[in-house]
Amino acid sequence: MSVIALVFMFAWMSRKNAGYPIGGSKAVVRLIVERFRALGGTLRLMAKADEILVENNVAVGVRLADGETIHADWVISAADGHATIYDLLGGKYRDEAIDQFYEKQQVFPSYLQVSIGVAQDLSAEPGLLSRCMTEPLRLDPETLLHDVPLRIFHYDPTFAPPGKTAVTAFLPTYNYAYWLDLERSDTKRYVAEKQRVAEAVIATLDRRMPGIRERIETIDVSTPASVVRFTGNWKGSMEGFLPTPGTGFGTRRQTLPGLGRFRMVGQWVQPGGGLPSGLMTARGAIRAICRNDHVPFVPKSASGVDQAA
Ligand SMILES: Cc1cc2nc3c(=O)[nH]c(=O)nc-3n(C[C@H](O)[C@H](O)[C@H](O)COP(=O)(O)OP(=O)(O)OC[C@H]3O[C@@H](n4cnc5c(N)ncnc54)[C@H](O)[C@@H]3O)c2cc1C
Repeated sequence: MSVIALVFMFAWMSRKNAGYPIGGSKAVVRLIVERFRALGGTLRLMAKADEILVENNVAVGVRLADGETIHADWVISAADGHATIYDLLGGKYRDEAIDQFYEKQQVFPSYLQVSIGVAQDLSAEPGLLSRCMTEPLRLDPETLLHDVPLRIFHYDPTFAPPGKTAVTAFLPTYNYAYWLDLERSDTKRYVAEKQRVAEAVIATLDRRMPGIRERIETIDVSTPASVVRFTGNWKGSMEGFLPTPGTGFGTRRQTLPGLGRFRMVGQWVQPGGGLPSGLMTARGAIRAICRNDHVPFVPKSASGVDQAA
């Protein structure tokens, strides 16, 4: 699998079918939002859905956390799969296969991310630097890291003012429960633990670039508890279900047993996750909805060219 991933990545990049978007994920999202609005879509942000409303086994809308209800001809959930099935729908539309999958299938890990703003031009450094630790980093009681990968964003001018650089360290952990419990039960220790991890990353950076510590202007540490708070992702996972020989790369069912006019899209119906899975599964959902409602499925690119093929 690792070899295949590498070969695919090179092939996509060489065909200009993959790459790094200047501006990061925000820049990608902005284009999609602009296109969606130009086509007449309405986007509401900061609106958490607490329940998917169902009448006679047909999804008819959502109830938001502030009590507002929104009615709909179809409901498509792009939120976390586990929360959608077991919380938003109260576990009423599932079968043994779904339960088994959510119980047994491994997910991508959660993570801590240490983000640092340095008042220094680091363009002489590589974009990705992995530092092997002489003393492994104890991230949490179950996670010992032997290397710390650093992304040095000197190639993206939108991430820091001229002469300054953004640096991140991505630190994976499966021990999401530890961080969630700590945040809930002992805020003081939670903050101290974040500082300890940040200090270990800064020390690693400082060994490579002596004196950089003095030029650090800003530090932010997110943990699996932050991931859950911002995304609601099950187990704080970074990317949904891991693709395994059992799952392959195929899309899972986008419907739930016994529930009409409802679809699921995103990383929880496409093992392997990633940004493309959101678009591909959403396209499949809209195509199925069009077929059901006898509406022609004729998507057009921004330039007006038919994309139906
Ligand atoms: C550090 C990092 C680096 C990554 N790098 C890459 C990469 O290089 N390439 C790549 O392809 N993928 C990458 N991924 C993975 C990729 O980001 C995810 O797989 C992808 O974002 C999943 O898209 P999604 O739409 O399924 O879910 P999400 O992006 O998680 O979107 C779900 C949205 O639903 C919202 N939501 C959840 N519950 C509710 C609710 N109840 N009501 C309302 N809204 C709700 C969430 O707030 C969120 O905005 C990376 C992930 C991480 C964490």
